[in-house]
Amino acid sequence: MARKDFHHPFQPYDIQQQFMETMYECIESGKVGIFESPTGTGKSLSLICSSLTWLREHKRKTFDEAMAAIDVEEDEPDWMAEHAKDARRQDMRQMREEFETRLQAVRDREQKARERRAYNEHVYKRRKVASDDADEEVSNEEQYMLDDYESDDERTKTGNGGKSDYSAETTKLMERLGMLQSRKQDGAAEEDIDELKIFFCSRTHSQLSQFVGELQRVKLPPGLPPDSDGSAQSKVDSTVEAVRQLTLGSRKNLCINPKVTKLRNQTAINERCVELQQSSTSGEHKCPFLPTKESEDLVLHFRDHALAKVRDIEDLASVGAKLGICPYYASRPAIGPAEMVTLPYPLLLQKSARDALGISLKGHVVVIDEAHNLMNAIEAIHSTQISETQLKLARESLMVYLQKFRNRLKGSNRVYVTQVVRVIDSLLLFASGLHGAAGTGGTLQPGQLLSGKGVDQVNLSKLVRYINESKLARKVESYIKNFSRAQNGAAPKKDVANPVADVPTLMHVQNFLLTLLNPSEEGRFFWSKEAKTTTIQYMLLDPSEHFRDIVQDARAVILAGGTMSPMEDYKQQLLPYLPSLTTFSCGHLIPPSNLLVRTIAADNDGPLEFSYRSRNAADIIRTGKALLEVAPHVRGGLVVFLPSYGFLEQVSECWRKQSIGVDLQKLKPLFWDSRGGSVEATFREYGEAATDGGRGAILLSVLGGKLSEGINFSDDLGRCVVVVGLPFPNTETPEWKAKLQYIDEKVTGRGEPKGKASREHVENLCMRSVNQAIGRAIRHKGDWASIILMDSRYIQQRILSKLPGWIKESFPSGSASTVDKVAEDVQGFFHAKPT
Ligand code: SF4
Repeated sequence: MARKDFHHPFQPYDIQQQFMETMYECIESGKVGIFESPTGTGKSLSLICSSLTWLREHKRKTFDEAMAAIDVEEDEPDWMAEHAKDARRQDMRQMREEFETRLQAVRDREQKARERRAYNEHVYKRRKVASDDADEEVSNEEQYMLDDYESDDERTKTGNGGKSDYSAETTKLMERLGMLQSRKQDGAAEEDIDELKIFFCSRTHSQLSQFVGELQRVKLPPGLPPDSDGSAQSKVDSTVEAVRQLTLGSRKNLCINPKVTKLRNQTAINERCVELQQSSTSGEHKCPFLPTKESEDLVLHFRDHALAKVRDIEDLASVGAKLGICPYYASRPAIGPAEMVTLPYPLLLQKSARDALGISLKGHVVVIDEAHNLMNAIEAIHSTQISETQLKLARESLMVYLQKFRNRLKGSNRVYVTQVVRVIDSLLLFASGLHGAAGTGGTLQPGQLLSGKGVDQVNLSKLVRYINESKLARKVESYIKNFSRAQNGAAPKKDVANPVADVPTLMHVQNFLLTLLNPSEEGRFFWSKEAKTTTIQYMLLDPSEHFRDIVQDARAVILAGGTMSPMEDYKQQLLPYLPSLTTFSCGHLIPPSNLLVRTIAADNDGPLEFSYRSRNAADIIRTGKALLEVAPHVRGGLVVFLPSYGFLEQVSECWRKQSIGVDLQKLKPLFWDSRGGSVEATFREYGEAATDGGRGAILLSVLGGKLSEGINFSDDLGRCVVVVGLPFPNTETPEWKAKLQYIDEKVTGRGEPKGKASREHVENLCMRSVNQAIGRAIRHKGDWASIILMDSRYIQQRILSKLPGWIKESFPSGSASTVDKVAEDVQGFFHAKPT
C-alpha cells in the first residue's frame, strides 16, 4: 500500500510514518489519543505534519462536499447549476486571495527590508511612552480586558467597512467551511472568521519556540482545491499555502512598555498593565501601546504581520515594538484567521484564561505536548493556599486603610470592609490554634475556617463579589504603598513568605475565599506547619473534571510526549469517562546495539532493595561498591539517579565515612546535585569533565530533581545512567492519604480489589519519574548508552510493564541481574563502541 504523503520536509522513518498515520486517524475519528515518541525521533515534525495535513485535507474535503451540496432548482439546466457552483468557487478563491495577497505584501516588505539591512526603519511612528509614576489607583482586571478585546470589532471585517462582498449563499458556504462564522451580538449579525485550527500547547516558551522552528520547515498544499480549469490568473501560489500561525503568550513575554517590563514578576506586570488602563488613570499616564478605537488600523497591520510568517514569541514581541502596538492585546484579532495557534499550558488549561483571550476550542484540534506533567499542571492551576503571615499582613494593611478612610467610607463599604477583617480574623484564629497541635499537617473541613466571632452573619458569596467589584485589594495595596513611602521614604513591608510579594496580599485572601466559597468536590482542604507559620491550602485531587470541557469542546485531543508511559494512568485518572482512547508508543531510531538495559537486583550479599523503610547504611555501602565495579568500564559520563534529596544526603555522608567517595573519585571526578545548590554550575563542571575525552565523570542526582528533567544527557554527557531504587512518594502525608482515599472511593463498585486503584496510581507516578530520567540518555539516532536499574523490585513484571516500549524491547529475557554479571555486560557494551 502506498505511504500517505504528510508533506514531511524529510523522508520520514517508518516509526514517524506510523506516528503520523495513527494521529491522522485519531483526529479524523474525533478521538483522544496518547502518543509517545522518545526524544530524538522527530516528534515535533510528526505532530506538525500529521495535524496540518489533516487540517488542509479536511478543508478541501469540506469544500468539495459543500460544492456538491449546493441547491439547484430541479428544472434548472445543468449549465446554470454549474455556473452557480463556479461563482461560489470563485468567491471562495477571491476571499482567500485577498487575505493571502495582504499577507504576501507583508512578507515582501519584510524581505525587502531585510535585503536593505534596514528593517528597523519602519514607517510607523512610535508613540512616545508617557511617564509613569507607578502610583496610580488600581482597579479590576477583567473589566478592562473584556472591554479592550470586545472593542476591537474591526478584526472580523474583510476590509470593506464591515460589509460582506459575498452573496448570501457564499456567506453561508463560508460559514460552513469556518471561513466565516455567524455571531449574534446585541441582536445584530456579525461576521467573524473562525478558521478550523490546531491549538498546539506546550509547557514553556522555549519548547514552543523549538516547535515554531520546526513549523517553519513545513510546506503544505492549500486548503482549497486547485482551480480545475487552471484559468484563474491567481497571484497566489496554488501548490503551496503558508501556514497562518500565531503564538500567544503572557504579558511577561509580550509587553513592550519598558516602564512595565522592568518589573520582574509576572503578576506584578499583569497588575501594572491593568493599573495603567483604569478610567481613573489620566490619559498621559495610560499605556500608549494599548489598542484603542484610533489604532484599529494599526491592530489590523499587526494581525497581518503576525500571520504573514511563522513567528515565535520574541519575533511577535518585536513586531509589536516596531509597529508601536501592544502585541499582547493586538494578537487577539489574529486568533480567528489563524490555522495553528501555539500557546503555553496556563492559557489553554484555564477556562478563565481562554475566555479572556476569546478562545473557543469548539470543533478544533488540541495538541498538548510534553503532556507527561499534564495532570500535575491541572492540579496546580486549580489549587490555592494562604499562609498565616499573609493573613496577618492583609489584616494589618486593612487596618491602616480603615484608620484613614473609615469616616469617608459609605455605609455598605464600611460594613463589607469590616466583614473582610472578621473573616481574616476567623482564618487567623484557626491558623494560630494549630501552633500547639500535634503533627505537621492534617485535613480540615471548610466550616472550621469560618467559626470565628460574627462570621456566621457574613454572606461569603456577597463578600467575595464585593471584594472583586470594589477593587478593594488594589486600592488598599496602592494606599499602603503610598502611605509607606510617605511615612518612611522607603518601600513598603514585603511579604517575605510569599515569593510573588508584588501581588497585593489581599488578592491571595480574595483567591482563597473564592475557593472556600466554591470548592469543587474533587478537592480537599489541608493545614500544614513549617517553621513558625501555618499554611491553609486547598488541593485539587482529581484533574479529570477540569480537563473535561476541553475534551468535550475539541474535535480531537492529542496528548504527546517523549515519555508518556505508563499510559494507564491517563485513562484512569484523567479520562476515566471515555470508553476508548487511541494510544501509540513508538520505538527509538537507534539500532538495538546502541542500547544496553540491565537490572541489578542483587549482589553477593543477597537482594538489593532501597525502599524508604528498609534501606540502611549497609545498603548504601553496597550501592557504592556496585558502582565501583561498573564505573571503570564506562567512558564519558556516568549519571546516578537516587530516589530523593534525603537519600542523596545519606549517601554522601555514608560514602564519606566509608571512603567509597574517595575510591570513586580516583576513578572519575564526582559531582553532586544538592537541594539548594546551583544546577547550572554543577552541570557545567560535570559536563566539562565528562566530555573532555579523559576519565569521564560521575554525577549523583535525584529522580524528579533539578537535573532529571529538561537536561540533556546526550552522547558523552550520559553514556551510563544508573537508577537506584524507586521514587515512591511519601504516602503518609495528609495530602497523599486524602488523594489515595479519593481514588479508591471513586472506583468503588467496579469490583476491583480494595486499594488496587491507588496502588496503581502511586506506581505509575513513580515509574513516570524513572522513565523521565532514563529517557535523558538517548537523544538522537546516533546516540548510544547503557541503562542500569538497581533494585530487586525492577524485575517484578508489574514494574517492568510500566517502562516505555523501546526500553522494554531492550530487556533480554533472563537478563543478568547481579552486580558482577552486569559489570561484565557493561564492559562488553563499551568494548564494542568506537573510542
Ligand atoms: S497594554 Fe501591553 S504594552 Fe501596555 S502595559 Fe499592558 S501589556 Fe504592556
